[in-house]
Amino acid sequence: MTVEKQIYEQAKAARVPQPTIITNIVATLKGSQPQAADRIYVVSGHYDSMCNSPTDAKCDAPGANDDASGTAAVLEMARVMAKFEFDATIVFMAVAGEEQGLLGSTHFAEEAKEKKWDVEAMFTNDIIGNSLGGNGIRDRNTVRVFSEGVPSNETAAEATTRRSVGGENDSPSRQLARFIKETSEAFVPQMTVMMVYRRDRYGRGGDHIPFLERGYPAVRFTEVNEDFRHQHQNVRTENGVQYGDLPEFVDFNYVANVARVNAASLAMLAYAPARPKGVTIISRLSDDTELRWEANTEPDLAGYEIVWRDTTSPVWTNSKAVGKVTTFTLKGMSKDNFFFGVRAVDNEGNRSPVTYPKPMTRQATDRPTTSSNP
Ligand SMILES: [Zn+2]
Repeated sequence: MTVEKQIYEQAKAARVPQPTIITNIVATLKGSQPQAADRIYVVSGHYDSMCNSPTDAKCDAPGANDDASGTAAVLEMARVMAKFEFDATIVFMAVAGEEQGLLGSTHFAEEAKEKKWDVEAMFTNDIIGNSLGGNGIRDRNTVRVFSEGVPSNETAAEATTRRSVGGENDSPSRQLARFIKETSEAFVPQMTVMMVYRRDRYGRGGDHIPFLERGYPAVRFTEVNEDFRHQHQNVRTENGVQYGDLPEFVDFNYVANVARVNAASLAMLAYAPARPKGVTIISRLSDDTELRWEANTEPDLAGYEIVWRDTTSPVWTNSKAVGKVTTFTLKGMSKDNFFFGVRAVDNEGNRSPVTYPKPMTRQATDRPTTSSNP
């Protein structure tokens, strides 16, 4: 594992009254499989914090939950996972300037895009420490995973396709959320992943958004019941109520369990093959469903699975192993009646997230195809 500071000068902005040095701490655990080492999974928390005012630099802003909880989870994952070898690369990151407009994460995501890094998934952990909500509900065993439906970077052409045949529930980020739920609940049975089918909460944002805007799959982890008396508040007592983001309102066992959910999912992503690329569904009138995709390059690849579900189901419900092929036809199953996807499986049974297919017209199918965007 190598650790570096990513430093830049942030120009004046809405919540930045003067040019300010922003520093991200970036720890990279390089993948050991040459075919997978360029595939990157990023997990982050933000180490800046704020009081009522985002430009008050003098107040005491302990930020125990928002977001020392996420930063601590990332540090602990880095400590534990550094001893292991994964096929793909994992980046453990603590970013700054989140409260000033997602500044540190934007800088990292922009650099990733410029350098054409293959960021296959990004997790932000933000407010993952409080198990007792302002609504009085105590829940120590559930964490929310927010995922967007319609991709933030969707093109006009993709929107036209989506309006025609659906897919608003099948973005890469939503496949990632399903992967996290399925994987972590197998390894961390004491925790339930509550998938939330939206990008973030009302009026809020997080460090996953700059990644989404640049086309990288990303999700947000947050506790289920928030207590707004302990977020973005000057530390004070008012009418006998304690305000402020203080450590006494953090449930440390809960933070540890959320870190376990993250770690299990990250580990399985980095052990598994890449999600299949160039997956298409042949768009012609037929009683059968024909899927095609590009071959994975990992030497330990065992083959592929087709998954499907009813169009109203929130999660994949069926799967079929189809071997080491790059096309498969499901006889007598109409693509009009189900959603389909493809995932890759390695020799140890590690499964990639699912890739949702793009439709390929009959005309295009008659031409040789290598593009992932036919
Ligand atoms: Zn935060």
